[in-house]
Amino acid sequence: MDSMTTANLIATVDLDAIAHNVGVLGERSGAGVIAVVKADGYGHGAVPVAKAALAAGAAAIGTASIREARELRAGGVDGHVMTWLHRPDSDFAGAVADRLDIGISSPRQLDAVVAAARAAGTTAIVTVKVDTGLARSGVAAEEWDAAASAVAVAVAEGAVELSGVMCHLVFGDEPDNPFNDVQAERLDAAVADLTKRGARPRIVHMANSPAALARPDLARDLVRPGIAVYGYSPIPSMGDFGLVPAMTLETQVSLVKNAEQGQGVSYSHTWHAPTDTVLGVIPAGYADGVPRSLSGRLQVHIGDRLFPNVGRICMDQFVVDLGPDGGGVAEGDRAVLFGPASAAPGERVPTATDWADALGTIDYEIVSRIGSRPERRYV
Ligand code: PLP
Repeated sequence: MDSMTTANLIATVDLDAIAHNVGVLGERSGAGVIAVVKADGYGHGAVPVAKAALAAGAAAIGTASIREARELRAGGVDGHVMTWLHRPDSDFAGAVADRLDIGISSPRQLDAVVAAARAAGTTAIVTVKVDTGLARSGVAAEEWDAAASAVAVAVAEGAVELSGVMCHLVFGDEPDNPFNDVQAERLDAAVADLTKRGARPRIVHMANSPAALARPDLARDLVRPGIAVYGYSPIPSMGDFGLVPAMTLETQVSLVKNAEQGQGVSYSHTWHAPTDTVLGVIPAGYADGVPRSLSGRLQVHIGDRLFPNVGRICMDQFVVDLGPDGGGVAEGDRAVLFGPASAAPGERVPTATDWADALGTIDYEIVSRIGSRPERRYV
């Protein structure tokens, strides 16, 4: 790392990789791309990712909460931004003022949005989110008739401009699962019903990353990928689809010290040096998104080698065993926790997917849990 930093851990985000991945998603799906940047762009930084995605040709940006969407506007993101998950007391007035495309999941949410638009003397932009089987957010079948007729009335009265109709897949990562087609049929039926009622949506979308890449026939007007924008394969058994991971999580070795045989390391001395050895202190911990449950299973890439974490991962730091000869490692050496860091020599750099596999979770959780503490650097 060449420039000074006040943060210990740096998440370097390659915006060319984001642009490349948006291109891959558009080409494979044959549709426009709504780049999903909820959870601070899956930990990558929502505003820079949104700007890079739009510059690369994305049709729109998607967030879960209104707050996330408004932060994009405050950060200078001017394009089409949609947001789809709200509490009853969410800031619909702010969403209307910021010209957000507001996903509604019930007649009550539509009422709240219409009230906010009327109070502001303007028209709200709305997407109807349909529960086609995920049984999460989205208009339930039992409320469909009420919601659809309320949308038609609001459109006819000019209170609402119907932007889109969307749903979310249950088995997107199982491309051949027949339930994908059941959901598609239900979504198409919802679009037909709204159209019959005089409320024709401009855009229809359901495909998340795996469906965008593996089921282009589900793509309707747009696809709505998240994880693939950041370069992680949503179906690892099908390969990497040509995606490039954008983030490298790196720091420096902050301290090198000798340890005698039998020395216990870190809280509760869960590891003791089997021989005289050299330890390296890595200034990153669970408050930076390095899961404590990876203690003793994490490998760090320093120089051209991997060194094992020993002892507990703490809030701000953990220790690696550099071996009796110190592994040629010096204080200040670059230490990569995960990457692509594809140009790094020697042993393969661990990936966020490796961490997820070790923990029995998904890489989504690893990257989205890197909080605000590490510095984001954009290259
Ligand atoms: N659309 C909705 C409604 C979502 O909740 C998500 C994320 O979970 C996405 C799209 C993007 O999904 P993925 O990251 O699997 O592409």
